[in-house]
Amino acid sequence: MRAMAFEGVGRPLRAVERAIPRPGAGQLLLRVEACGVCRTDLHLLDGEVAVADPPRILGHQIVGVVQDGAESGRRVGVPWLGWTCGACDYCTSGRENLCPRARFTGCDIDGGMAEYALADERFCFPIPAGYPSAQAAPLLCAGLIGYRALGMCAGARSIGLYGFGAAAHIVAQVCRHEQRRVYAFTRAGDRQAQAFALELGASWAGASEEAPPEELEAAIVFAPDGSLVPLALRALAPGGTVVCAGIHMSEIPAFPYSSLWQERSVRSVANLTRRDGREFLELAPRVPVSTRVATYPLEAANEALDDLRAGRFTGAAVIVLDA
Ligand SMILES: [Zn+2]
Ligand SMILES: [Zn+2]
Repeated sequence: MRAMAFEGVGRPLRAVERAIPRPGAGQLLLRVEACGVCRTDLHLLDGEVAVADPPRILGHQIVGVVQDGAESGRRVGVPWLGWTCGACDYCTSGRENLCPRARFTGCDIDGGMAEYALADERFCFPIPAGYPSAQAAPLLCAGLIGYRALGMCAGARSIGLYGFGAAAHIVAQVCRHEQRRVYAFTRAGDRQAQAFALELGASWAGASEEAPPEELEAAIVFAPDGSLVPLALRALAPGGTVVCAGIHMSEIPAFPYSSLWQERSVRSVANLTRRDGREFLELAPRVPVSTRVATYPLEAANEALDDLRAGRFTGAAVIVLDA
């Protein structure tokens, strides 16, 4: 099979030929139809998050068709959370996202930038009907992480989204569905992203340094830029929360205590639980979430990553395999 392999930090992915993997007990062999590209993939390429035992096939938003067994022909999704121990205090208290032995798809185990992939069947989700595979792929990380982050914004009616990429374009639609007001923050002058946010129902779109027209009850920072955290705190109403949704962020600059005073808080969101996955994939078709995707063939995975880094598209990048 054809695959794109990560061989080391700072090097582009390399097109390789691999044997089609054989499923072990409890594993599904999937023919990959689509695999979303995520900012986490850039952190892996840049060495900001470590990849276990390269060469490694990246890609953790996989939509594939089961190739054998009772489930043959069924379309499933494979997320970032690829395996957990099931026995630790985190796993047994509904917090498997924090399992210290967790293994992540396209990082600790081979992912979906290939014609075929293996997945632990316990960590696969059914794909909602009505979503072509390319449109479904971004639901599996951008959508799921966004949904988990939104869960940390409990009753907030006004929500700021800092960085309007793949995750924010999905979360904005869920917010509107739940009658929450969305304020979209982008790089100064990024008219394209601001127009996209307004099109998706944001009440306002502007530069991250700008003050929104009302105080925010919560803010989610999707961009990997620590300097956004004090800016988001400054835009918060008393009691509000800033949720950092990325796996890596540049250093957060110092800020005055008055920005945090009045019971404001800053927290992070890590990974996902299978419960998040089930809930979100059930919710997505009811919103209905519509994903905007830029598609690339497998061999153009490096181009997709470069375009993501440079912000050359709106929405999400997805690698599409020919049937
Ligand atoms: Zn991701
Ligand atoms: Zn565990």
